[in-house]
Amino acid sequence: MADEPQSPVSKKMKLDCPDEATATVTETPSIDASVAELRGISTCDDCIAVLLQLDQEQATALKEIVQPEEQSEPTYTKPICPICLGTFTHGNTPLIEALADKVKEVASGITTCQIHLSLPKHITARQIIISRWVRSKSACLVPPTPEDFDYLTRVRDYLSQRICQLLGVTLDTKSEVSISIILTCPQLGRQFEFPHKSPSMQKNPQAKRMFKMGPFNSWSIPNIQYLFTEIAPEDLQAQKCWPPNSPQTGVKVEQVKVKSPSVFIAGRYNKYARGITNTPLHIKGKSFITSVSEQVAPAFEKAFEATDHKFCSSGREDVDVRMLGSGRPFYIEILNPKVTSLSADTIQNIQDEVNQYPHVQFHHLQIIDKSELYRIKEGEEQKSKTYCALVWVKDLPNIDLAEKLKPYEAGRAHLTRSKRVLSLKAEIIDTHFIQLTLATVAGTYIKEFVHGDCARTTPSLATILGCTTDILLLDVLTVDLEWPPSHH
Ligand SMILES: [Zn+2]
Repeated sequence: MADEPQSPVSKKMKLDCPDEATATVTETPSIDASVAELRGISTCDDCIAVLLQLDQEQATALKEIVQPEEQSEPTYTKPICPICLGTFTHGNTPLIEALADKVKEVASGITTCQIHLSLPKHITARQIIISRWVRSKSACLVPPTPEDFDYLTRVRDYLSQRICQLLGVTLDTKSEVSISIILTCPQLGRQFEFPHKSPSMQKNPQAKRMFKMGPFNSWSIPNIQYLFTEIAPEDLQAQKCWPPNSPQTGVKVEQVKVKSPSVFIAGRYNKYARGITNTPLHIKGKSFITSVSEQVAPAFEKAFEATDHKFCSSGREDVDVRMLGSGRPFYIEILNPKVTSLSADTIQNIQDEVNQYPHVQFHHLQIIDKSELYRIKEGEEQKSKTYCALVWVKDLPNIDLAEKLKPYEAGRAHLTRSKRVLSLKAEIIDTHFIQLTLATVAGTYIKEFVHGDCARTTPSLATILGCTTDILLLDVLTVDLEWPPSHH
């Protein structure tokens, strides 16, 4: 016995079970024969190890056997593995490198990620057919269960780990950065669309139900597993799929997409000129007027190499209203950024750059955490705002204006049901003009309060004074909110 020549795989198998020497002897030739059969159709060593359910040691031993003709054969002429289509091969570094490069292209500077890989479903069909084929040649092999070698999961896990290794990124299923990769093998196309229509499946009621299934790509994995397990070898043979041969080209990287979490830039802005909107006003897709958001958001979108942005401020002023004082709190949500952070210096540079436009000025720009955003929403509803308005009065009544408005000065009298005006002061400029300074709870519409909005708002300045009034100019003086959160 000891003199018999043995392959490393057989030797390992013997060492694995020294107590059952007899059983191993009968099993040994079939494993070697099966390895040879699988290699004969260009199956890669990794697929052989999975298909024949070899353990770690046996799999390593398998790699030690180098077939004589393989030694001199350059890699590029090597046929592609008919099962994994080259995705699973440890030697297939070009595919891993190409994938890692594409991921780097769309997501630089990430530390963790989750990967969603879509693979050609042909792999499942091929795995089942070749497993059946090699087992038909050797009665000694144990019939596998589908879970024994769920190829798609194995290939997914393997590729994801290798890509992350190469990028130095931690694979984490809870990561906010999600990378989706689609690998296809267009050359194979609809190669496997026949089983449910094959002679051996004619009387199979389950296969009949599948008769109206669309293209192979849309088939479910359980359906593929069922059909290729049930179909007779003769039918596979008739389709030249017993076993399926190596494709001429391997998988193609169809798409690599990254979905990364938003970054938030907070700050305050001043609007020193009228005729500027808060967010772009598009008419038939064209923007006709300068907007606050357009002055700042694109610069950050560019710096973060993002795909889009959202601009959100604590309330908003009309196009003809200026925003003075300490400015209005706002934030920009940078969507799907490739760059995940910017240094304080870079942010300062962007701030200086956007402030070249004198009519809108930004300050305290900084990156904030998503968890801080609630403050701006809360502030919008609860915090007070101070306004200054130049009001035209048709006939200023001969009254003591200060005395008349006194009840409203400290917010003692309720101007509206929701007590929205907190204080009110008026200064007479001349017989037709007064300057109003008023503080309100967010949400009060100042223009309405001044002219009464056709008597719908009562009391209004018009009803208090008993004459027609109109608002000529309006400025926002303060928006009372501590923002950005870290700025005091
Ligand atoms: Zn393979």
